[in-house]
Amino acid sequence: MQAAIVTVGDELLAGETIDTNATWLAEQLVARGVDIQRITTVPDRVADIARVVNEHHAEYDVVLTTGGLGPTHDDRTMAGVAAAFGRSLEPNDDALSWLETHGGYARNDLTAGTTKLPAGAQPLHNEVGVAPGCILDSVYVLPGVPEEMKAMFERIEADFSGPRTHVTTVTADEPESALLDRLEALRDQFDVTVGSYPGEYVRVKIRGQDESAVDEAARWLTERVVTA
Ligand code: AMP
Ligand code: MG
Repeated sequence: MQAAIVTVGDELLAGETIDTNATWLAEQLVARGVDIQRITTVPDRVADIARVVNEHHAEYDVVLTTGGLGPTHDDRTMAGVAAAFGRSLEPNDDALSWLETHGGYARNDLTAGTTKLPAGAQPLHNEVGVAPGCILDSVYVLPGVPEEMKAMFERIEADFSGPRTHVTTVTADEPESALLDRLEALRDQFDVTVGSYPGEYVRVKIRGQDESAVDEAARWLTERVVTA
């Protein structure tokens, strides 16, 4: 299963808010065997949200968005997702009833627009906040507030699965450039993917679906580098 994550918010692009939603979601999805192909951040602008959601929806099995939900002027995600599918935004009765029953809100107290979803979308109730998310085809629209997003993800996590990827890290105390020959040999000899992440040491991450191939590759490399 290939997925894309789209985080929405001017404040993310301005460097004011750290995009912890993208990393949290990526970690959760990867742990379930989902292959993340894109993490894209877009501004609070309907046309940009619509274009990216539309492109990613065409390209990948699932798309998850976070942010931009709610009734204020800069919450544009539902309009963007609706536009991506050529649908209108409509008040969703199910979302409204849920807020009355579980949220303790009177219909008239809710700000206009709070329960507007793209026509035909399935609402995702917000256990922690107010604004609902939704599922439309294979696009999952989640809130921006991390606690709300995490609680909503729990309700949908069973939808995401794939073959488990095994990962092992070998930490080498050598310059990355000195490791090139051994990294190449590693990739030639084993059915694994290899990532090299320099820092104080070089972390070589070996990934693959066959656990024994990953273990063997890690053993092979460990015997041939100066480990930290
Ligand atoms: P929004 O749903 O876009 O109005 O976002 C509500 C709040 O959630 C923002 O003010 C941020 O504090 C937080 N938030 C939104 N997007 C993210 C994100 N990608 N990562 C972390 N926090 C976020
Ligand atoms: Mg926002």
